[in-house]
Amino acid sequence: MKNYGEEILQMVDICKVFDLGDGKKLHAAENVNVTIHKGETVGIVGESGSGKSTLAKMLTRLYSMTSGKIIFHGKDITDLKGEALRQHRKSIQMVFQDPSTAFNPKQRVKEIICEPLENFGMIDKKDVEAKAKEMLRLVDLPEDFADRYPNNMSGGQRQRIAIARALVLEPEIIVCDEATSALDVSVQKTVLDLLVRLQKETHVAYMFICHDLALANSFCDNIVIMQHGKVVEKIHDLREAKDPYSKKLLASVFTIEEGKNKVLPDELFN
Ligand code: ADP
Ligand code: MG
Repeated sequence: MKNYGEEILQMVDICKVFDLGDGKKLHAAENVNVTIHKGETVGIVGESGSGKSTLAKMLTRLYSMTSGKIIFHGKDITDLKGEALRQHRKSIQMVFQDPSTAFNPKQRVKEIICEPLENFGMIDKKDVEAKAKEMLRLVDLPEDFADRYPNNMSGGQRQRIAIARALVLEPEIIVCDEATSALDVSVQKTVLDLLVRLQKETHVAYMFICHDLALANSFCDNIVIMQHGKVVEKIHDLREAKDPYSKKLLASVFTIEEGKNKVLPDELFN
């Protein structure tokens, strides 16, 4: 098993209740606990609507929490506000499913990649080109992409640009929310290989959100399985999966992916 480092982040008893009006409330997260270590990949797996993205948005503070705490390097950052919150945001970056909507089509690739540095006043205009090229090399894209626009690039190339942008602030955690789900299986594999290499080089931790438990199993050190906003179980390996819901997730993935050579252990279905 991979040897990851010290604890970076704890989400403790996180709850999110959406008020749907007419007295209706939706519990999108109920007492969720997730711990992330340096260099670790934590999978968050569940069907659509299970609360995965809501959890990611609370972690990146795009959504407020109804209750619960976030501890970062031992410090309670739940109530961080203003400039302190802005600075904290450098530590946790996000890569979304659809890179085509994540970018401003009027920006060149170099501006897209370096925008986070510019937002924090961490780069001079004259250095943008060189920094963008450095980041493009890191994600195995040609340097001359720096001056191009993202709209005529492939989904895999755009996702590499999103990864370069997420890495430019040297975050400790990158949240990948279905980041490879829209890609063809072969392209998905190359992007996952890239994430593995970048983790080896930078010791970044990933919160890897997906609905494919078999994929998460091949990529994650630990997996949190969610259903209706609750943690069903936490596993290291899918052979440990006990809950009927986890097995159902596996079975549905197996059916869809049958043609793609995914082999699941028989004992799961006994
Ligand atoms: P997942 O990412 O696992 O598909 P989400 O976190 O997007 O699930 O959604 C969990 C539940 O919360 C869903 O029922 C969804 O409709 C609801 N939800 C998400 N965001 C909002 C919102 N801003 N307002 C109301 N309900 C929301
Ligand atoms: Mg989602």
